[in-house]
Amino acid sequence: MHRIAIHGGAGALRQDLMTPEIEKLFTETLLQSLTTGNDVLAAGGSSVEAVEKAVIVMEDSPIFNAGRGSNFTNQGRIEMDASIMDGSDLRTGAVACVSEVKNPISLSRLIMDDGRQVLLAGEGARSFAVKKGLELRDFDYFFTHHRWDAMRRSINKREVELSEDIVPLHVESVSVFDKKYGTVGAVALDQQGNLAAGTSTGGITAKAAGRAGDSSLIGAGTYANNKTCAVSGTGHGEYFIRATVAHEISALVEHAGMSLQDAANKVIQENLAGLGGQGGVIAIDRNGNISISFNTKGMYRGSMGSDSETFVKMYKD
Ligand code: ASP
Repeated sequence: MHRIAIHGGAGALRQDLMTPEIEKLFTETLLQSLTTGNDVLAAGGSSVEAVEKAVIVMEDSPIFNAGRGSNFTNQGRIEMDASIMDGSDLRTGAVACVSEVKNPISLSRLIMDDGRQVLLAGEGARSFAVKKGLELRDFDYFFTHHRWDAMRRSINKREVELSEDIVPLHVESVSVFDKKYGTVGAVALDQQGNLAAGTSTGGITAKAAGRAGDSSLIGAGTYANNKTCAVSGTGHGEYFIRATVAHEISALVEHAGMSLQDAANKVIQENLAGLGGQGGVIAIDRNGNISISFNTKGMYRGSMGSDSETFVKMYKD
């Protein structure tokens, strides 16, 4: 048996502003990501490979806040965070504040496979990518008008945090709407029974230069352990770090004997919300059960696998 779940960020999706074209665009990209990851798993590939490939599809799309569609810092730069973890042996790799790298999730995987470091940041992460032959892109590739405008608006409002505003987003003349949380992530169970998780983001709109978020930190935005579960999160990173969201969910399953859904709900609806944080997680256990919890109005999410129904959703049920 195998299964994958993905997310494309959590936030205040305004159902009243959604059009069929916008919904189609998000639905198709999420389905493409799921199919890509599921094909790896169906062919007997590893959960790590499936997670990486599924995340790449979303990094390459300008509609999500990761890779190509990344948010800008308050200095107008692209600084991306990502991480990946193999639940079979707790190996992991992560990057923080990296520029120019087309697929930060692949860089995370190369850092994990190299094994000497766990987390590389900034220029050091970029040179590691160059050494490993990863594709780089210039600023124009990452430039999207909707993220640039969102950054300007945020600075003008002197607001560097997430809000409930809708940000108009124009993708190839299709007018769509997005919220400031658009991080992407995937969790998977492969046919060998191994779990993996991965997360990738441009971070929060108009974040401070050099600010690293939860998506670069194992235990906060990403965690995987075959004994318990694999988790990927999205939301206000500072709160995810303080609540060590991803590892806390795993710890509650392992030490408190909670079901994965109860653990995810407790950490998101009580611990994270109790600190004032917003966001959500997708998680999978070693039996392929998917648990999703979020305290925002919506979350782009979906799942596909053997013996399970494929779904893509955006709003609360
Ligand atoms: N968690 C990400 C961060 O704080 C943002 C997001 O999920 O959209 O960098």
